[in-house]
Amino acid sequence: MSGKHALPSQQYHVFMQTFDALLREAETAHGHLCAGQILGVRLAMLGCERLGIDDPKGLVTPKDRKRLVTFIEIDRCATDAIAVVTGCRLGKRAIKFRDWGKMAATFVDLASPLAPQGDTPIYKAIRIAALESSKQRARDLYPNIENKNQQQMLAYRELPIAELFSEEWVAVPIHPREMPGYKSGRITCEVCGEGINYDRETHRDGKILCEACASPETRYYQSLTKDQLSTTSKAGPETSPQPAH
Ligand SMILES: [Zn+2]
Ligand SMILES: [Zn+2]
Repeated sequence: MSGKHALPSQQYHVFMQTFDALLREAETAHGHLCAGQILGVRLAMLGCERLGIDDPKGLVTPKDRKRLVTFIEIDRCATDAIAVVTGCRLGKRAIKFRDWGKMAATFVDLASPLAPQGDTPIYKAIRIAALESSKQRARDLYPNIENKNQQQMLAYRELPIAELFSEEWVAVPIHPREMPGYKSGRITCEVCGEGINYDRETHRDGKILCEACASPETRYYQSLTKDQLSTTSKAGPETSPQPAH
């Protein structure tokens, strides 16, 4: 992807990595370039910029590394791009997934604590959501491009921030046990014998239970029946690029 489509109204001059460099990284991480990558890169760059975080991954200076926790409200293409830009990873507990099906993310600045509520620290954060009207703006800009993904890919590079996103400053409580790097005791469920981390156990009738044993009705899985066991599926995953949100 060339850099011929310059970003018009937003200057990322303080940002260590350029839009195009981040987009290439996002494409590699995600497996393809799509409208969601472009939207996600711009959304996350805006979040970092609003918080004054120049170098979230600590590529040049370590001062901003580990300063961010990012809540993401959708598991779609843009989610991967947000992880690439911020350096936040689910496996480092720096991404908190809230499955709300919304193209929105909240960037929490751990270096900006507000007054705590009880034992839970609260941090200043910026929540950014993609505007529903951005899809219409893409249609307005490129009415002759039939393919929605192509149409949005072009438009989302060019549209000014105010036409793509809404922004709100918010306060986000994060309990110490939810923080990256929290060291928890390891406890064993007395029913299934599996280990439980991060204080996720339930105490009931003098017993320690994991979530699956404490509330079987909330399990996301059930044991296979004999019939199901003998059935095999050869369906593969769908990987074609989709329009963003
Ligand atoms: Zn995608
Ligand atoms: Zn259990």
